[in-house]
Amino acid sequence: MVFQALRKKDLAARSATGRVSENPLGCAAGFFSYPARALTALENLHAELRACRRCPAMSGPVIHGPALRTDVMLVGQAPGPHEHKVMKPFGWTAGKTLFKWFEQSLGWSEDDFRARIYIAAVARCFPGKAVNGGGDRKPDETEMANCRPWLEREVKLLRPKLIIPVGALAIEQVLQRKGPLVDFIGRPLKATWHGIEVEVVALPHPSGASTWHRTEPGIGLLKQAMKLLKARLACRF
Ligand code: SF4
Repeated sequence: MVFQALRKKDLAARSATGRVSENPLGCAAGFFSYPARALTALENLHAELRACRRCPAMSGPVIHGPALRTDVMLVGQAPGPHEHKVMKPFGWTAGKTLFKWFEQSLGWSEDDFRARIYIAAVARCFPGKAVNGGGDRKPDETEMANCRPWLEREVKLLRPKLIIPVGALAIEQVLQRKGPLVDFIGRPLKATWHGIEVEVVALPHPSGASTWHRTEPGIGLLKQAMKLLKARLACRF
């Protein structure tokens, strides 16, 4: 794939400060100007986040991804029952589906993805199983409000340009409005989130409990969303 052939050249173009001096795909340079001190601030935030016990009905441990120098942020819903075994967001079956979408569209491995996109979520602890047995319980309004200050601090530190909310709860948080997935997936969107103007490309939740992305119109809209992401991500990395 052309993108993979260009990757080494692209990486070599980065200076020691992380700034891209020339992008072989002709995109605007400079998003790696994210200062190193912000990375340290993000690591300090993670240390505080790991000690958070604000939600009595949530099960720890707190799951978060590594601090990264990136202007792309993915926002998921909450970890599932197995993520604590690997201590990575999207570390189990839903993650396999999510990373497959990026592998098919951009040629990225899971490691490529994790090294390039900062992964956050509307809740960082496992909410437990849903009482009706249909998958995991969704975080409630109080739990999302409890966890929102962590997201807000991450957004203010990273100052992302592109947000990828995954699933209805994350889409609602980022766009601050509700609606059916067909209104959001596959369309280029914009939002002002925690005071930062961002481009938004929404994805459906890759959970095995959801059939939305495996039936029409979800299949076609997901393809459209991945095309939008390819256009935005291939020129960044
Ligand atoms: S879900 Fe968020 S706010 Fe609630 S305990 Fe976990 S990290 Fe803290």
